[in-house]
Amino acid sequence: MEKANLDWTNLEFSYIKTDYHLEYYFKDGKWSEAQIKKSDKIELHMAATALHYGQQCFEGLKAFERADGKISIFRVNENAKRMKRSAKKIKMEPFPEDKFIEAVFKVVQLNRRFIPPYGSGASLYVRPLLLGTSGIVGVKPSYEYLFLIFVTPVGPYFKGGLKPIRLLVEEEIDRAAPLGVGDVKVGGNYAAGMRATIKAKSLGYNEVLYLDAKHKKYIDESGPANFFGITKDNKYVTPASSSILPSITNKSLRVIAEKELGMTVEQRPVDVQEIFDFEEAGCCGTAAVITPVKSITYRDREVVYLKDEDVGPTCKKLYDTLTGIQLGTVEDKYSWNFEVPMD
Ligand SMILES: *Cc1c(COP(=O)(O)O)cnc(C)c1O
Repeated sequence: MEKANLDWTNLEFSYIKTDYHLEYYFKDGKWSEAQIKKSDKIELHMAATALHYGQQCFEGLKAFERADGKISIFRVNENAKRMKRSAKKIKMEPFPEDKFIEAVFKVVQLNRRFIPPYGSGASLYVRPLLLGTSGIVGVKPSYEYLFLIFVTPVGPYFKGGLKPIRLLVEEEIDRAAPLGVGDVKVGGNYAAGMRATIKAKSLGYNEVLYLDAKHKKYIDESGPANFFGITKDNKYVTPASSSILPSITNKSLRVIAEKELGMTVEQRPVDVQEIFDFEEAGCCGTAAVITPVKSITYRDREVVYLKDEDVGPTCKKLYDTLTGIQLGTVEDKYSWNFEVPMD
């Protein structure tokens, strides 16, 4: 099949309409089969719990065209599991994990002409979304749900790929509370963070770095991505916290750091003062991949990790190994790639 006529090497991280999306409905205690839809509009009850009380959760993952021409999805089983956990936490009907994997395969197959070619640096972003759809005005869980899944071809989240970003430590705004829902992928966390990101951008930074809401002492994460630091004695250090989203990219990088690069990995509370001793730092996530951190500003001090270079040596090795596995140029020892059958 011929590829869509897109400028693959200059794609941004934004929505482009593709051919189809899938919808599954939960009604009378069971999930429907997939409905294939062409329109990118959905019909929703105006009193749906998703709209009023934030009963929604989502996922984000990527499909890649590999060096051998095959199409694979990175760790889709992990996203299936996480979405189930997100749904349960906010009292929604979870979408079954096996059906989730099938849905991802199916939506990628249907939109194969939008999979960016190997070497373009772009990928096909897959966005599953679960919505409470019952029209109830009282505050209680919906009894009907819509699971939908669409794709859109994307370039890097932070423009320019391996382009370092400047972070501002945020002390006046919290994204999530320690016993709240910061550890699940729900839209409300993003709404809560927008005012912080907009403020940081207006001051010339690219993103914020949140501190834990209780002590304002430990690093949580950046807006849409987890955070890690590389110490001078070559440790990969990343925060443990009840209010950050357990990133699958970060989980993969911890394995790569330890097993492939021979580093010591520490996942523990990270005091914000430690930023001044790191050798390198990075943000990581499906969308961000690894985005090198140029500098972090905390109160009136700025620590600069990158001067003329765009990426430090350890972040570069982590990036090359992760993207190499995804693109099939580095051996997939851990069976992270799920091949999508394509005929
Ligand atoms: C999705 C997300 C991440 C990244 O998780 P991945 O599984 O690596 O894509 C990090 N932080 C937040 C808040 C997120 O929503």
